[in-house]
Amino acid sequence: MKLTKAQREQLKNKFGGHCAYCGCDLSDKWHADHIEAVDRVMVECEKRGIKTSGEMHKPHLDTIENMNPACIPCNLNKSSMSLEGWRGVLTGYRNALIRDSHTFRHSLRFGLVEFTDKPVVFFCEKWGANDINLTR
Ligand SMILES: [Zn+2]
Repeated sequence: MKLTKAQREQLKNKFGGHCAYCGCDLSDKWHADHIEAVDRVMVECEKRGIKTSGEMHKPHLDTIENMNPACIPCNLNKSSMSLEGWRGVLTGYRNALIRDSHTFRHSLRFGLVEFTDKPVVFFCEKWGANDINLTR
């Protein structure tokens, strides 16, 4: 759905102007993410191979209640995944870094980076909790 300017402002402030997922401050450029994907119809395209037609398989999910404000990197990375599916993918990034990145493994050995086994917790899941850190 095309949001009005007032709806976009309301959605941007759903979590105090922060990305619902990573918690960064949203700039003027941000995306309205469908929490549960509307699954857009993909069509072949000469330039990029495949692109969305804009048509949705699940148009009933195209509501402001099913939207979260998201920074562009989070929205693009989440794509049409569910939150649990995306959480699993993000959790797997740690193992992929250790497995695939020689630079990361060397940095880890020399203490230049730290590895943690913290669970992936989205900002929107912490919103309203007393331990939230808005300064990051
Ligand atoms: Zn984000």
